[in-house]
Amino acid sequence: MQLIDGKATSAEIKADIAARVARIIAEGGRAPHLAAILVGHDGGSETYVANKVKACEACGFRSTVIRREADVTQAELLSLIDTLNADTDVDGFIVQLPLPAHIDEQAVIEAVRPDKDVDGFHPVNVGRQALGLPCFHSATPAGIVELLRHYDIPTRGRSCVIIGRSNIVGKPLAALMMQRGVDATVTVCHSATEGLADITRRADILVAALGRPGFVTADMVKPGATVIDVGTTRVPDASRKSGFRLCGDVDFEAVAPKCSYITPVPGGVGPMTIVSLMQNTLRAALHEVY
Ligand code: NAP
Repeated sequence: MQLIDGKATSAEIKADIAARVARIIAEGGRAPHLAAILVGHDGGSETYVANKVKACEACGFRSTVIRREADVTQAELLSLIDTLNADTDVDGFIVQLPLPAHIDEQAVIEAVRPDKDVDGFHPVNVGRQALGLPCFHSATPAGIVELLRHYDIPTRGRSCVIIGRSNIVGKPLAALMMQRGVDATVTVCHSATEGLADITRRADILVAALGRPGFVTADMVKPGATVIDVGTTRVPDASRKSGFRLCGDVDFEAVAPKCSYITPVPGGVGPMTIVSLMQNTLRAALHEVY
């Protein structure tokens, strides 16, 4: 069994990006600039945004965090998005999700101009990704495909089973894994799937993205499979300073000995998600997509 080290892989990619940014600046260009809108004070969102700011620093990017209180109105938020859409100093921006219940998340996603949508959530980017056209790829799926490539894990003709059909992980990952060049045979499972374990046992690459700690047990995994654990559930843990620990969707201790490759949580998919955002921001700054 080999551990897939997302932390080390993402560090290598960030170093490559930083070298590229240094060359751009040496040639008279300017550093890419990522902005993030953070609404309210959700602990998870605060951490994600802080990690994105740190990643920007590592890549030599500028970053700006724009905070609004949880009672911000939808009109105010949409107006802020319009301002960022028009700001030529900002190459790309994200609105950290989830948003408070009174805000229509889909309206917010669709308000971001597709050429600044470095999260790849706008329907234009989602649609272009499905068609295999240049676009900003959704960050978590792009990070997963990058990890598979980095570790030379064969995908062509292989069976890839994804548990979870969310708009940010399952669906866009299915589109990427079946793309020409990746060439996996994809099955997407969800809460209505019958005979789930029979399906997962056929997977050469099994991706767990459902948000249920330890859901994937050893009997659900084919010997020699590659297992990608996307889950990051905060589980209370009094022994930690933070009061919680992050738990993946895979019963790591039992599953790892059966696999050829497996991602840990934390340190697997999470850091790759952030690095994909950095890659999208660089591509936005260089107008490589639009
Ligand atoms: P989500 O929107 O809650 O979607 C969960 C999916 O899992 C749904 O499609 C749901 O099916 C399916 N599901 C739930 N219970 C199931 C069961 N018993 N059997 C089969 N399918 C089941 O979640 P998400 O946003 O995709 O996130 C999933 C997990 O990944 C969470 O832990 C999240 O924190 C984590 N995550 C991590 C990263 C990262 O960078 N590491 C990024 C994004 C998300 P239905 O559609 O039928 O309800």
